[in-house]
Amino acid sequence: MNKSFLGLACVSFLLSAGQCMAQAPASPILLHVDLSDAPRHLLHAHLQIPVSAGPLTLEYPQWIPGDHRPTGPIDNLAGIVMRANGQNLPWRRDDVDMYGFHVEVPSGVSQLDVSLDFLATPGDTGSDENGATSANMTVLEWNSVVLYPAHIPVAQIPIQASLTVPADWKLGTALTIAAQKGLETSFASVSVEQLVDSPVITGRYFREFPLAPEITPKHYLDVAGDAADDVDLRPAFLASVTQLVRETGPLYASRHYETYHFLLSLSDIVREEGLEHHQSSDNGVEEKGYSDPKLAMLNADLLPHEFTHSWNGKYRRPIGLATPDYATPQKGDLLWVYEGMTQYWGDVLAARSAMWTPETYRQALAWSAARLDVKPGRTWRNLEDTAIAAQILRGGSANWSNWRRSQDYYQEGELIWLDADTTIRQLTHGQKSLNDFCLKFLALGGNTPPRVVPYDFDQIVAGLNSVVAYDWRAFLTERLNTHAPHAPLNGIEHGGYRLIYAAEPTEFEQALLEHAKETDAWFSAGFTVGATGEIYDVRMDSPAFQAGLGPGTKLVAVNGHGYTGDVLKQAIRAAKGTADPIELIVSNDNEFRTVRLNYHDGERYPRLERVQGAPDLLDEILKPLAASKASGL
Ligand SMILES: [Zn+2]
Repeated sequence: MNKSFLGLACVSFLLSAGQCMAQAPASPILLHVDLSDAPRHLLHAHLQIPVSAGPLTLEYPQWIPGDHRPTGPIDNLAGIVMRANGQNLPWRRDDVDMYGFHVEVPSGVSQLDVSLDFLATPGDTGSDENGATSANMTVLEWNSVVLYPAHIPVAQIPIQASLTVPADWKLGTALTIAAQKGLETSFASVSVEQLVDSPVITGRYFREFPLAPEITPKHYLDVAGDAADDVDLRPAFLASVTQLVRETGPLYASRHYETYHFLLSLSDIVREEGLEHHQSSDNGVEEKGYSDPKLAMLNADLLPHEFTHSWNGKYRRPIGLATPDYATPQKGDLLWVYEGMTQYWGDVLAARSAMWTPETYRQALAWSAARLDVKPGRTWRNLEDTAIAAQILRGGSANWSNWRRSQDYYQEGELIWLDADTTIRQLTHGQKSLNDFCLKFLALGGNTPPRVVPYDFDQIVAGLNSVVAYDWRAFLTERLNTHAPHAPLNGIEHGGYRLIYAAEPTEFEQALLEHAKETDAWFSAGFTVGATGEIYDVRMDSPAFQAGLGPGTKLVAVNGHGYTGDVLKQAIRAAKGTADPIELIVSNDNEFRTVRLNYHDGERYPRLERVQGAPDLLDEILKPLAASKASGL
């Protein structure tokens, strides 16, 4: 349980023909990144890499931590020139590993100079770095501009980075700033692992806000926006983020960072993002993502989720994700802990920090729980397989996603941890909770600098048993392996609520549908439709499925009227209790036909309903634990 990251790395590397013997350079790689051309989506980098004579392989990061898949944006790496002693050196890409570059270092050469450019434009890898620049800001994830010697754990490779930004741009990062001169900032030497784990946000419109000043280590919110007034964050929002920092004190009882920076981009140009790091998080929402009340509601869980990952995901990490470098494939089988428990605590923290009201929390939970509860793909694919297959499920199409399943380890993981929390509370008559598990599991070793402490399934079971004796192995295994047709809703029911369906969407779902420009007939006729009538998905075995509809089909008319969302909803309401089918004209691959939809139960939208007289554990869970001006951790 206390096995160090480096120890683990060496075990892994010994398996590959003694490559663990590779020596880490004694002096740091020097990396300079020039963002002068970032407004036109072109990043320049120059590396000075200590080397010795002989064959050398340099790697570009492929398996990006937090992405859970091999998304390193290799297709946008360009302009690679290697030189030594003033001479160009030929390099050759590995025939199999597209991220590997071989070069023969001549005798007498101790430093390799490498120039490269990163094209921050749309690419094929699905990488979030591709869209991380605009005319007014850049979010620099260093993995897009770094090469490192292969076969050495990245935690052992020292690197010293510096950065030139466009005129009038300021920056924020968890890296220690060693010097600033003009537009150039030099950072203290760190490992390649820590550099890749420490992005920089920089922009013309930038502000840094200190948070919860009574707490050490220190926390900051670094925000860049599309326009000057974007970064004047509302006092209520700043107060909620400060409260979030305070709420993690009693919940996690430890901090595994020297400082923590929430990096926040508010932009309709730069990509939306949520990427966890040890000492920071890369958060990207719409330009008005926290000033528009509806968007703020939809984005409320982002910061609590990414912040929680500092403990659950970065410090405590599934053994299959604690890889020694970015070339080693990751194993995602425990992502229902990494992401599922983070989803659980992130949502709870959003409520405890007043980013959500308890009612909004329940509305969000109802929305996700209901979708899982009627997802037929669960009959062939168990939850654990959604975690193992994370690398092929992320970013998948909505079409037939209810049969394929998607990254359900997030939200179904949340239901499992809610179930575990309420079970502990019941077994101990309210004396203990999942918080006690966090105190053992996430606070292991007390406050520490950033480091990785891996775990396996058995350690999760043992940790839960140390809180209260129970057959946790069977509890978890059953929920991970089941092919039952419905979702595990026990936690909601133990919490004193039940999932029901009403004729009106909740405020949360309404905001979500408006934002997505989507009409939701998922729980009624069995499909979701976009603004122009395109069907996104059809629920298997629903009335729409029985009527022969499929995703991609376009609704042209409903009961003789041209399609709009309101026309469809009116037709569903009018058919309630009647025997008359809803008549649709649809276009499928330019073939037009008439479809009779036999559905007569009216509109249905999920929500949670309080079970009168039942213990109100869910309400109890959402109560803040920290004082509004705590003096704690
Ligand atoms: Zn996450």
